[in-house]
Parts: sequence; structure tokens; C-alpha cells
Amino acid sequence: MRHLDERRQERYIRHSVLPGIGKDGLERLRNSSVLIVGAGGLGSPCAYYLAAVGVGRIGLLDSDRIELSNLNRQILHDTCRLGDPKALSGMETLNRFNPDVEVIPITERIRPENAIGLMAGFDMVIDATDNFAAKFLLNDACVLSSKPLVHAGVSQYGGQVMTVLPGQGPCYRCVFSEPPPDGAVPSSAEAGILGAVPGVIGTLQATEAIKFLLGLGDLLVGRLLVYDALKMTFREVPISRDPDCAVCGENPKIRLP
Ligand code: ZN
Repeated sequence: MRHLDERRQERYIRHSVLPGIGKDGLERLRNSSVLIVGAGGLGSPCAYYLAAVGVGRIGLLDSDRIELSNLNRQILHDTCRLGDPKALSGMETLNRFNPDVEVIPITERIRPENAIGLMAGFDMVIDATDNFAAKFLLNDACVLSSKPLVHAGVSQYGGQVMTVLPGQGPCYRCVFSEPPPDGAVPSSAEAGILGAVPGVIGTLQATEAIKFLLGLGDLLVGRLLVYDALKMTFREVPISRDPDCAVCGENPKIRLP
């Protein structure tokens, strides 16, 4: 046991010496749980860094299987696991990377009927999905169950990230009131995506999650951070709560089963 504790101390020493983390912070992280929805381009770096810092329980939700065209960005998986479920491949990678962390693979597709149930038992949720329907669903389920959410989206050479603390700041729907019509915005399959871009944005999501779990610094609440890789700029867009928001406004219309 002593041996295990020493190994643990050594693994996290660069974190435990940080002001604001220390041994108490490591213990706090070890008792924390995060659900990552999407084990793809955003979920890969996010899961790696949450595992690296020793978040005790990581849920990895993805119903898809690994395709060769995923591997320009989905670094949780590898060529010898083509065709495998991403949630299971991700668990295998993270188990090898940090055996301290319990990884819970979930191969179900997230739907209005199961969203709140799937996120119950986790301290917070990471939106690492690649489609608008899932992003709105996650936002609504998080707001309705008061679950902190780190939203992100990426396309081509850019991306965005924001943190939603239900009841304390605006939600994703306060900014984008409803999903664009089907086909109005091209998917990553149609538009393409530079592999390192979700690497940057997914890493920012992990950073936000770690800060939230430790109560450190200022979160991206009420501000949307927009990344442009070609200009290599980060721009901050202030956002406020929309009183007419369909999920967190004064007369919410959205309910989930
Ligand atoms: Zn809202």
C-alpha cells in the first residue's frame, strides 16, 4: 500500500507542487467524476488530461466505432483498433495511461429519454460531440439537472469553448437559441477539420473542468472563447443570460422526460 502511495505521489508531483492544487487538490480530483460525451477529436485530448491529473472516475460515452478517417485527430484510438467501439478503445488507452483512474465506457447513444439519467452520478459533463442536436440536448439536460457543462465546437481551422454553470450564468441556448436547419452547417466529414484544432479546444475543456473541480481561477462563464488557428488568435465574446431562453429563461418551455 505504501508503495502504491509513493507511486501516486511521484506521478502527480508536478501538480501537487502547484499553488492552488497541493495534496488536498489531488484528493479532491481523485474523488471527482466527469462524463465526457464523445470520444472523438475533442474527447481524446480532454480524456487524456483528465486522466493525467487523476480525476477518479471518467465516463466515456460514444456509440460510434473507430474509422480510419477519424485518426487525423482522435488520438485516443489507434490503427490496430479500427472498427472497435470508441468508448471501449478509449477505456483501454486510458487504463494503460493511468491505472489509478476508473473509466466507465458507455456505448449508448445519448437521447432526450436517457440524457439526464446517463449524467446522473457525475459531477460535471464535457460536450465533446460533433453535432448540433447532441449539443442542444446536452445543454438542456445539464441546465435541467443543474449539472456544470463545458461546451465546445470545432470546424475546419477554428473552434469555440464556453462553460455553463446552470443558475449562475448563460447557457448554450442563451447564445444560439436553436439548432441550425439540417444541412445548413456542413459536418466535419464535409467541411474537414485540422487535427490539432480539437486538440487545442479539447485541452481547454479539460483545463476548465480541472479548474471547476478545484475551484480555481475564472471560468468561461458568460464568455465564449473563439479560436482561429489560421490567424492564431483567441477572441472573447461576452454573453449574457437571455430572459427568453427556452431552457434557462423566465418561462422555460423545454422539458425532458
Ligand atoms: Zn439559457
